[in-house]
Amino acid sequence: MQKCEKCNNKFKYKEILNSVWKGYKPLKCSRCRTNHSPITFTIILTSLLLVVPAFFTKDINSYFSSTFNSIIFYILWVIFSVGVSPVIMRYHMVKKSK
Ligand SMILES: [Zn+2]
Repeated sequence: MQKCEKCNNKFKYKEILNSVWKGYKPLKCSRCRTNHSPITFTIILTSLLLVVPAFFTKDINSYFSSTFNSIIFYILWVIFSVGVSPVIMRYHMVKKSK
């Protein structure tokens, strides 16, 4: 998990998950209040992970042989992707220039 670039305070899994869940909102360090904005590359990465099964719809449907099971798989996949996103996400410190 990532640390704050300023004070080395370790971001909590829940804090990052919360940021991802709210549409990749900037992360505020709970200790020094420094804002960290998500790095675009990691946003793309986690979004891609989420939609990966969409590229394999045919294979997934034939593998599970029933629509119901496929839907269950998709739901589990979404939970899984969101669950691992805090591990993938990287943030960088926002410098206060103004
Ligand atoms: Zn900090």
